[in-house]
Amino acid sequence: MTEGSHEGRPVAIVGAGIAGLTAALSFARKGIATDILEQSSVLSETGAGVQLSPNATRILSKLGLGHQLEKVWSEPSAICLVSGTSLRTLASVPSGAFARDRWGSPYGVLHRADLQMILTAAVEAEPLCRLHLGARIDDPSRGSVATLTGREPGLVVGADGVWSKIRTHVQGAGKPRFSGNVAWRLTLGEADAPAVFDTTKVTAFLGGGSHLVAYPLPKIRSFNVIAITGGQDPHAAPDRTMPLGDVRKQLIAAFAGWHPQIANMLQNAQDPTIWPLYEVNEGAWNERENIVLIGDAAHAMMPFAAQGAAMAIEDAFELASFVADGKPLAAFVDQRKTRVARVRSRGAFNRFAYHARGPIRLGRDLVLSMRRPESLAADFDWLYGYQPRD
Ligand SMILES: Cc1cc2nc3c(=O)[nH]c(=O)nc-3n(C[C@H](O)[C@H](O)[C@H](O)COP(=O)(O)OP(=O)(O)OC[C@H]3O[C@@H](n4cnc5c(N)ncnc54)[C@H](O)[C@@H]3O)c2cc1C
Repeated sequence: MTEGSHEGRPVAIVGAGIAGLTAALSFARKGIATDILEQSSVLSETGAGVQLSPNATRILSKLGLGHQLEKVWSEPSAICLVSGTSLRTLASVPSGAFARDRWGSPYGVLHRADLQMILTAAVEAEPLCRLHLGARIDDPSRGSVATLTGREPGLVVGADGVWSKIRTHVQGAGKPRFSGNVAWRLTLGEADAPAVFDTTKVTAFLGGGSHLVAYPLPKIRSFNVIAITGGQDPHAAPDRTMPLGDVRKQLIAAFAGWHPQIANMLQNAQDPTIWPLYEVNEGAWNERENIVLIGDAAHAMMPFAAQGAAMAIEDAFELASFVADGKPLAAFVDQRKTRVARVRSRGAFNRFAYHARGPIRLGRDLVLSMRRPESLAADFDWLYGYQPRD
């Protein structure tokens, strides 16, 4: 294969998650055909909700999905940080109309199934995209892909998530590492939610060593709840088969000293699932001009800045632009690594601040209380105002 060229051949995308589906639409926009190979025979999503920040919604709008998304998401009026013990509001970043105005694109929260349905329908309606379900790829060589698709790709995109098989074919690629944190995910009907949960806001409750995020999913009259604490990987693999009783016991213990509204809510939670958080922090993202990794396959990150899906969407869109312009994959990787590193350090800062204890926590609360909402919002300009290569 010549450098920086897919030689007019289709691109094979392994994985039909947020990264893979967005990549297919982004390539189609540039007139490049794709085969999307997904191991599952039915597309389904784990976890109920997802926050889409303006840097992600800007791209989804460019792909023509803005109007459909607006019908199924809600735009929170603010993102609030609240003490998990006293329930005092520590800080509030305005969102809603403010986000549209300041960052030029909305901040939306929605059910993952809705996002996936919209992306899948758009891919299925696009003549340049061919979606192959029940098509697992362990060997990304051209010949092996062609046996499933009937045509040899000019480039293979590994969009196959944190446990990527394609990554094992990239020399010098990183490995997933357990972060020392686990997430519990649950969906709570509005009627069962504590009074402090606000149907108009994303609220992050902060406590020593843990935090909990709640945001509304109005379409199903529920809240998406994610609780994150330090913990062990129960199975040393992303397996959610731990007995429900044990899951609940661990969750209750982690939030025992919290305000009763939250501790009681967790005590009564019906369907918590535990999710050990793995990261891919370093390593190569491409194998010459043959293979490139995007999304969690390249850089799975902790959800402290709620940016994993947003980075997958940015990767997908910018990759299509670099490839269409005949640029070498190294140029794409350089650009994306710089951006992802900055987002990762923002996540690491949040991890430190959200889970702070003792004097650091007091200092954090003081500093936050002195900052005005507009000044807090300015901290996000580089992240949410990002203009992707088009
Ligand atoms: C608790 C939690 C909350 C989060 N909240 C947010 C948030 O609010 N906002 C945000 O931006 N991000 C969030 N994230 C991160 C976000 O969910 C992920 O970064 C994103 O979903 C990654 O998408 P992906 O397409 O790269 O990978 P995946 O969603 O893992 O998709 C990979 C796909 O590849 C398929 N596949 C795997 N192997 C093969 C193979 N060998 N052959 C064929 N197909 C294969 C899989 O079946 C799957 O469909 C959160 C993450 C967690 C854990």
